[in-house]
Amino acid sequence: MDNPSRRNFLKDLGLGTATFSVAAERAQGGQLPGAPPSADLAPRASSPSSIMAIAAHPGDAFFAMGAAVALQVHLGGQGVFLSLSLGERGSAKIAPAEYGSLQQQSAERAAHTLGARAEFRNYPDGEIPESDEVKLQVCDLIRENKADVIVTHWSGSWHKDHKACYQIVNDAVFYAGLPALARQQPAHAVKRVFFAENWEDANGFAADTYLDITPVFDRWLEACAAFPMWRGETGFRYNDYYRSLAIARGCLNGSQYAIALMSPPEQLVRHVHAL
Ligand SMILES: [Zn+2]
Repeated sequence: MDNPSRRNFLKDLGLGTATFSVAAERAQGGQLPGAPPSADLAPRASSPSSIMAIAAHPGDAFFAMGAAVALQVHLGGQGVFLSLSLGERGSAKIAPAEYGSLQQQSAERAAHTLGARAEFRNYPDGEIPESDEVKLQVCDLIRENKADVIVTHWSGSWHKDHKACYQIVNDAVFYAGLPALARQQPAHAVKRVFFAENWEDANGFAADTYLDITPVFDRWLEACAAFPMWRGETGFRYNDYYRSLAIARGCLNGSQYAIALMSPPEQLVRHVHAL
């Protein structure tokens, strides 16, 4: 892969446009006893950026990725939640058509709470196609929203829709940055991609970036509570899991609450003049 947008993409990665900090850059806690010295030192954001959470299902977008979006909006950026399906087959008690509509309403309410927008592509839950048609639709949305930062699924998932979403986003980011790929909107190079920590995508997930979400923690919980499944109604205790995870990650980050993210390997490459 060698094209101008790809080169720009790689160059941009060194600019540290986001407020995300690399693992060792602890907000307040300083270096932990016995831990190796901080490795890096990505500068703080100089301007608000546009962020998109792109998930297979609305619950993933808000529970695993929502706090990152909430923080960017809090800092003056723009946030979009894109769900590739409505997660309509997620209830054993409510028929898919009705449950899908409830999921959509919950997502719209949650996005409103966070000052963000919710977008949907209604592919069938469990059957999200990993096709060029879908990748180009996501490419178009990335271009339309001029997304600087994207948070999405990690590939190490047992859920086929999550794995498909990972691949769709990877290729959509590539398409979005290709000037020679003519679509309605001009090409747009995404600066950073992060994979969210998700209980269903735990295989091989290795956190390298910690984000202090303390300023938006309460609002994020309020947004998640728009979903009945947040309270465990579909069998998994999302509320307990993600709230506790934010506390545990906060301990490692030296902040009250945090989320952990994973980067694509090329995003961690640094170019330095001295060691
Ligand atoms: Zn899911």
